[in-house]
Amino acid sequence: MAAPETLRIIPLGGLGEIGLNMMLIEYGGQSLAIDCGVMFPEPSMLGIDLVVPDWTYLRERPDSLQGLICTHGHEDHIGALPFLAREFPVPTYATPFAHALIKNKREEHNIEFPLECFRAGDSWRVGPFEIEAIHITHSIVDTVALAIRTPVGTIVHSGDFKFDPTPLDDHPSDLPHLAELGDEGVLALLSDSTNVERPGVTPSERSITRNLEAVFLQSPGRVLVSTFASHLHRIQQVLDISARTNRRVAVAGRGMVTNIGIGQDLGCLRVPDGVMVDLNEARQVPPDRLTVLTTGSQAEPRSALTRIAMNGYKKLAIDPGDTVILSSRMIPGNEKAIGEVINHLHRRGAEVLYEKVATGLHVSGHANQAELSLMMQLIRPKFFVPIHGEYRHLIRHVALAERMGMPAENCFLLEDGDVLELEQEHARRGEPVTAGRVFVDGKGVGDVEDVVLRDRRHLSDGGLVLAMLAVDQHTGDVISGPELISRGFGVGDESQAHFERAREAVLAALEELAPESRTVPAEVKEEMRRTLRRYFKKALDRRPVILPVVTEL
Ligand SMILES: [Zn+2]
Ligand SMILES: [Zn+2]
Repeated sequence: MAAPETLRIIPLGGLGEIGLNMMLIEYGGQSLAIDCGVMFPEPSMLGIDLVVPDWTYLRERPDSLQGLICTHGHEDHIGALPFLAREFPVPTYATPFAHALIKNKREEHNIEFPLECFRAGDSWRVGPFEIEAIHITHSIVDTVALAIRTPVGTIVHSGDFKFDPTPLDDHPSDLPHLAELGDEGVLALLSDSTNVERPGVTPSERSITRNLEAVFLQSPGRVLVSTFASHLHRIQQVLDISARTNRRVAVAGRGMVTNIGIGQDLGCLRVPDGVMVDLNEARQVPPDRLTVLTTGSQAEPRSALTRIAMNGYKKLAIDPGDTVILSSRMIPGNEKAIGEVINHLHRRGAEVLYEKVATGLHVSGHANQAELSLMMQLIRPKFFVPIHGEYRHLIRHVALAERMGMPAENCFLLEDGDVLELEQEHARRGEPVTAGRVFVDGKGVGDVEDVVLRDRRHLSDGGLVLAMLAVDQHTGDVISGPELISRGFGVGDESQAHFERAREAVLAALEELAPESRTVPAEVKEEMRRTLRRYFKKALDRRPVILPVVTEL
């Protein structure tokens, strides 16, 4: 008799970092992927727009992948999908809101792959796996946990979750169903570790309503609220509070406009009658009667809030008396840029409320310790694997599981590329597989042609161009440069002429920037990269890695 097949759990991303989430479940040579997310580059990753998981492992077994399921529509779960789908156009399954977001990506990237919609409560089959989706609460609508029934046993993947008992849509997590799965018997639980450092429970989305409303009532001018464009429940709160406090709402930022439209179409966002006002007409609304919803809570270059802060947004300028609420977490790595935006908003006379100076204007979408314990109690798995976290989160989550009575030998701290092999009663580590990070140069939005995937090992195959610029930190005036230095990017006798023209193109592009944007290094770098990338592509059909360095003097 042949040995029984083992079930393999293979994280390709998200175990060792926040972001880049991608998990493979493999049985009998067939695999299922759960999520396919990006990570935003750290400030030290010069010249990179996005990071995606390395799926070399799948390339080595081209026919193994049977399908991909997205637990929800956050970028750290769906952002890398268009890049994967170019190589593996497998059936992809997503909940309605995530489905709509992925559909937009599919169009922007101009690729084809089968995309199916499912809802919490649905069950279906992918290869040897029977999937069941369970509703849970998070900071985006339509989030699910997954129960994956395999010939070896049931795996429960928590997705990103918190147990909000009073969510805005009155649709709390399906705890009874999670308990039923526990009764049935679960082989392994893979659970979200993001907030394992925090004791107690994460406050409910409703806990911030009163605090937000107080700000709306007290602000003598406009209230600008910046949050993630995908956070429909937060957007709903802003709409409802605005209606109650007699303010109209204008929307700034493409992502916010798109998502509000999708939310309305799907019936998960209710816009109160008469509350919306076109941004072009917002100037005619008295300041104390206006709310502005904007993107840019992470101070992304070129986002609406960043441009508003730099006075580079034509349709809206900050006046003294306005209040800006950053209703979001500062993602580590973005603090510096967010700080700059806050400085500029203050200079324009705005009051700025953010997590360090005002509590209760944002809540997390992830479970704290008490909720993580509850998840383990409901599921009562034989084996436990913490997911979605840096190493420090994963190790604390294992410690929490052990305190909850899980035997140490049944807890597996896996990192990207590690393999867990499961049989009905046994689990062991397998041979690790290739995993890592692949860098994307070019955002793939509007300029798909320009996107280049760069494997770390071949990062500089197209050559490198280092662009150095010194600017006056107060005026943003160029003091010297840009100086261009290249490696592995010889273009013959004409190099000097090309570099001279590229320099001129950069100076011309910087001239076009709003004066205050020129004092923000992130904005200047972004503009330099865009300009140089375009120049080398157009003039030479080359795509070197462009490393902008801006010195403020
Ligand atoms: Zn999420
Ligand atoms: Zn996530």
